[in-house]
Amino acid sequence: MFDKILIANRGEIALRVHRACREMGIRTVAIHSEADADAMHVRLADESVCVGPPAAAKSYLNVPAIIAAAEVTGAQAIHPGYGFLSENARFAEIVEAHGFTFIGPTAEHIRVMGDKITAKQTVMDAGIPVVPGSEGGVDSYEDAIPVAERIGYPVLIKAASGGGGRGMKVAETAADLKEAMDTASTEAKAAFGDGTVYIEKYLGRPRHIEIQILADTHGNVVHLGERDCSLQRRHQKILEEAPSPALNAADRAKIGETVRKAIGAIGYRGVGTIEFLWENGEFYFIEMNTRLQVEHPVTEMITGIDLVREQIRVADGAPLDIKQEDITLDGWSIECRINAENPRNFAPSPGTITDFHAPGGLGVRLDSALYAGYKIPPYYDSLIGKLIVHGRTRTEALLRLRRSLEEMVVGGVETSIPIFLALLEEPEFVNGDYHIRWLEEWLANREA
Ligand code: ADP
Repeated sequence: MFDKILIANRGEIALRVHRACREMGIRTVAIHSEADADAMHVRLADESVCVGPPAAAKSYLNVPAIIAAAEVTGAQAIHPGYGFLSENARFAEIVEAHGFTFIGPTAEHIRVMGDKITAKQTVMDAGIPVVPGSEGGVDSYEDAIPVAERIGYPVLIKAASGGGGRGMKVAETAADLKEAMDTASTEAKAAFGDGTVYIEKYLGRPRHIEIQILADTHGNVVHLGERDCSLQRRHQKILEEAPSPALNAADRAKIGETVRKAIGAIGYRGVGTIEFLWENGEFYFIEMNTRLQVEHPVTEMITGIDLVREQIRVADGAPLDIKQEDITLDGWSIECRINAENPRNFAPSPGTITDFHAPGGLGVRLDSALYAGYKIPPYYDSLIGKLIVHGRTRTEALLRLRRSLEEMVVGGVETSIPIFLALLEEPEFVNGDYHIRWLEEWLANREA
């Protein structure tokens, strides 16, 4: 096993990885920008290296500086966390070319899944259900017409290299098709340097349900059930739960087994998430994330499996010591992403934390790098912590969520805590009766 790992990230996820390393007896190297010298991930790590100025492009994305930090500290492996370099195939290649282990899948798998068209084709060939649509890219309006007619309107034009919801346009009728294609393609070309687009059936009110998988390099794959991440604003998840209020044990076993076989067939290693839209009992693949997800704790809470520990073990070549039949889902877990932002207009609210009190008690977990006196820098995303609760039932988890949100104190900045407290008053949310457009409709009604 590795005796030293460099963590190429910051904030709560750097801490999360550090914690797994500590429990495994592995020493840690933190990297940080000049703005993060006092950050908790730097304070807790065994060693730390400054890799550049505040801007992420010059520090957390500074590949030569990160490789040099691994070399001077004698780390054997690099954990990318999520975001930053975690889904950068070139980074994975450079890490391995310098003799370090990249704690993640192969560069090839990252590349295949990073392009939406090749990802969709690959998983479809492996037996995973996808959204009906074009086979590969569509070059012209003339080629698009028969595809849209076959699948039926409304259709969605999506960019092959899209991300963060950009390069996506809905065509309600044939009359909108040309303009939707041109706009999606132009937007994608400007944002990603690639204007290739494809067509999918547009689903009206689906849920977002994703399956967590874990695979070793010996051909063993397990799935750890699903997470429901349908509460989104501008395609950003804000609250996730496991299991999904919409699935029963038979649905779960069926999709889990389909995904498990497919992941085995493509020879994937490490942790990964297969994301689906789910409507009227059917699953439709949208993308695969080849890394640890922000919302991984809800899966950990109901399975008792430390996903980061397993990720490190399989990266080191160890066989999985968990079998599918040993995995049981126990109770219910909900995570709230707590951001430093104005809860009405969502403007970032960086600043100094004047008071801080973490909620506690049975079934409460706070993954956060905050402390009283910490100055939240304005350069990075606004996530300051994840509050995760576990209960024997969904009702118990909801009661625990309210209690712990009320207990939590974050002074000096605005946070999204009031939004979650308001959501807990909403019968549809409380009943688990929501879809991917529900939150935006709810927010719009509150403003009105
Ligand atoms: P990105 O990489 O830009 O996040 P995704 O393919 O994951 O793109 O899609 C982002 C979001 O767009 C989804 O979470 C969903 O809300 C919406 N979406 C994607 N595909 C469809 C579809 N076929 N029908 C309806 N909504 C969709």
